[in-house]
Amino acid sequence: MITQLTRPNVEFTACADADPEIFHDDVLAPTAKQLCAGCPLAEACRTQARNSGEWGTWGGETSAERAAAGYPPVGWTGRGYTRFTHPCGTPAAYQRHMRAGETACEPCKQAESVRAGEQRARRRLRRKNNPARTK
Ligand code: SF4
Ligand SMILES: [Zn+2]
Repeated sequence: MITQLTRPNVEFTACADADPEIFHDDVLAPTAKQLCAGCPLAEACRTQARNSGEWGTWGGETSAERAAAGYPPVGWTGRGYTRFTHPCGTPAAYQRHMRAGETACEPCKQAESVRAGEQRARRRLRRKNNPARTK
């Protein structure tokens, strides 16, 4: 996924609270596919990604699978597995800094804080809509 907010109806999807990197890294695609398999929006999500040339796993479909279906991601080289590395200033790049044991750069810190704020807002909304829920 490019950002979580580009996903349809993100509040209700399985990927809303997942680590975005799961959807960006083809090595982690099996995990992403499991999340998508239980998602009510999988078909719409897959169509959206096909039509906008997205990278990563959307609606259970990886970059390579979209390319094979005739909807290559923007910049697809046609050489099978290609790792797309998100640039600094994205939550995925922030996660990469963390995994490497680095201190995140400022653009990445900002992107992560925006993402975390959006996640908190979604959780607040869910609590408001369903007071019995504690998470
Ligand atoms: S199909 Fe997958 S990527 Fe798309 S919204 Fe659902 S969980 Fe997220
Ligand atoms: Zn960075």
